[in-house]
Amino acid sequence: MEKDKKSFLFERTDKGTNTVVTVGDVPIGDGRLVLMAGPCSVESEEQIRVTAEAVCKAGANILRGGAFKPRTSPYSFAGLGEKALELLRKAADEQGMPCVTEVLDAGDVALVANYAHMLQVGARSMQNFKLLAAVGRQGLPVLLKRGMGATQDEWLLAAEHIMAAGNHEVVLCERGIRTFEPSSDVSLDLGGLVPLRRRTHLPVIVDPSHAATDPATVGLLARCAAAAGVDGLIIEVHPDPLHARSDGQRALKPEGFSTLVSQVLSVFDSAGGKFLG
Ligand code: PEP
Ligand code: MN
Repeated sequence: MEKDKKSFLFERTDKGTNTVVTVGDVPIGDGRLVLMAGPCSVESEEQIRVTAEAVCKAGANILRGGAFKPRTSPYSFAGLGEKALELLRKAADEQGMPCVTEVLDAGDVALVANYAHMLQVGARSMQNFKLLAAVGRQGLPVLLKRGMGATQDEWLLAAEHIMAAGNHEVVLCERGIRTFEPSSDVSLDLGGLVPLRRRTHLPVIVDPSHAATDPATVGLLARCAAAAGVDGLIIEVHPDPLHARSDGQRALKPEGFSTLVSQVLSVFDSAGGKFLG
């Protein structure tokens, strides 16, 4: 941690007080488990409409869907851009839910903010400091994913970049980090939630989808995160995972999501909700 500053905006000062970040009309960090769900990418009007209806019915609070996709290969589907933003917002409005989507470029912040209720900064962009400053200069809440190779210090300092630019509405999202373990692409750092919670008052959610290789593992990791008392989960759901244009191999079908919701809520309740604060 940098030595030239004594305290940081992300730091917990009072043991019991957590920040509540409100997305549309959904509070995150008030002791309930918030569920964000939807496809990795928005692919068509029908796909996002059907998914939004299903996840809302199953109990999701916030609709997710990618419009600008960061892809490892330049030949992979990179999202439908503004068309996807329009479709996402329309589907969210039809269900009366707020929506979250990724912004990849500082120059697109105003465009994405026109449609979304929350801006996602993805794992690959966690140290794009111009993007962090740009989302920090606007008023919508930000979902800040942990970089795959980022320590907690680096992740929290990325949050500090957003907060120092003026926006204190930051939600942290653990989504797995690269380790030497080859059985999955990344290892979900659930143990890290304990020191993280001790250090920051910001809400913390978990994305089990990107750390999993298959839908059953998504469910298991989601239950583990719920038992740890996180503030929310973000889960990828697709009506036809076999034909999804991104991340289909671990997407849940709507029926699977519905089962997962009742399981995670019961785990969250029986574990007592919060483990700190
Ligand atoms: C996503 O949410 O689809 C995504 C690309 O997430 P991450 O930045 O965590 O890989
Ligand atoms: Mn994805």
